[in-house]
Amino acid sequence: MASDQVAPAPDSFVPLCAPELRGNEWMYIKECLDTNFVSSVGPFVDRFEHMVADYVGARYAVATNSGTAALHIALLVAGVRPDDEVLVSDLTFVAPVNAIRYVGAFPVFMDVTAEHWQMDPQKVETFLKEECAAVDGRLRNRRTNRLVTAILPVHILGHPVDIKPIADVARRYGLKVIEDATEALGAKCRGARVGAPGDIACFSFNGNKIITTGGGGMLTTNNEAWAQKAKYLTTQAKDDPIEYVHHEIGYNYRLTNLQAAVGVGQMENLDDYIRIKRGIAERYTKGLSDVPGLTLPTEAPWAFSTFWLYTVLVEEACYGMDSRFLQRALAERNIQTRPLWAPIHDQRPYRDCQAYRVEVVPRLHRQALSLPCSVGLRDADQQRVIDAVRDLARR
Ligand SMILES: *Cc1c(COP(=O)(O)O)cnc(C)c1O
Repeated sequence: MASDQVAPAPDSFVPLCAPELRGNEWMYIKECLDTNFVSSVGPFVDRFEHMVADYVGARYAVATNSGTAALHIALLVAGVRPDDEVLVSDLTFVAPVNAIRYVGAFPVFMDVTAEHWQMDPQKVETFLKEECAAVDGRLRNRRTNRLVTAILPVHILGHPVDIKPIADVARRYGLKVIEDATEALGAKCRGARVGAPGDIACFSFNGNKIITTGGGGMLTTNNEAWAQKAKYLTTQAKDDPIEYVHHEIGYNYRLTNLQAAVGVGQMENLDDYIRIKRGIAERYTKGLSDVPGLTLPTEAPWAFSTFWLYTVLVEEACYGMDSRFLQRALAERNIQTRPLWAPIHDQRPYRDCQAYRVEVVPRLHRQALSLPCSVGLRDADQQRVIDAVRDLARR
């Protein structure tokens, strides 16, 4: 940890996950202001795109004004059509599911594995094999009679989905894979960075993510035609920018040079942030491993997690209180925590959509609590969190 740490007040507020902006961001923003390049063209947009593409190991990257916008465009360029179906994790922030509806397609909710809480490749495969039928080289869901055309795995909390078996089965059935990597920039699956080998992946630079531009997103792909199409659609589909000719409906999903300037400053420190997050995770695991009723997050043998949000499961009978009670007890001690998302298949807009053998997600929703893990988390504050969680056990 930094040597310039000042001793925190014993009851100061400990946020869940605050941004860290102490690199070159200020200097780069000043450069934007000094040169008048504040809007959606400018050298930092290109630089940020190249940095992210290089970092994840993809050939192309297209910046957007949010991760949600990146997901919307990714679904469009991957060719997902109205009335198609897309298999998506049930345990996720709602954004990728909304994006599926933006293109007029429908989600089919898939369960996650009990060990690492990511989309269960086994269930994906069984669903495609047993619930769908190949007709004229296309795959139809027997129950809804809709075409299944894509899989949208969501890498949650900084840990990757086991993407290889999902990509394999997708290839077998001719499905596209659109990865929601908004929480997993820097994570690796079987040695490859998330976003490198797949069809298309989406990232977010919202304020709570591992790096931020205030708000922003990016999609990465190795498909040149898709990258060009994505740039075209995010910039109002200009077919002749001088005469204002448009052959398609485009979107204003551009990232500004100002935001990209912050992004470049953030990218320069990403590896440091990941190292720090992994250190925070290690200290939590050491400090909490013997607390009865807590299940601590682990890293799969094939995975490199950024531990973006360190999340524990609280088993009420054994710990002595449930996750929501613990959340309130920690809030009273000025410590901010957060549960995992409610299952999406239960949300009002999605209640009529199919959920396939979702068995693990509801328990994770009940039991999970994410603990403070800002890059700037001070050792003394983390110790306060550890002490509080230990102290509250079996009270
Ligand atoms: C943050 C997030 C998004 C959306 O990103 P925005 O930049 O906020 O639009 C999408 N999916 C998941 C899983 C997220 O956590």
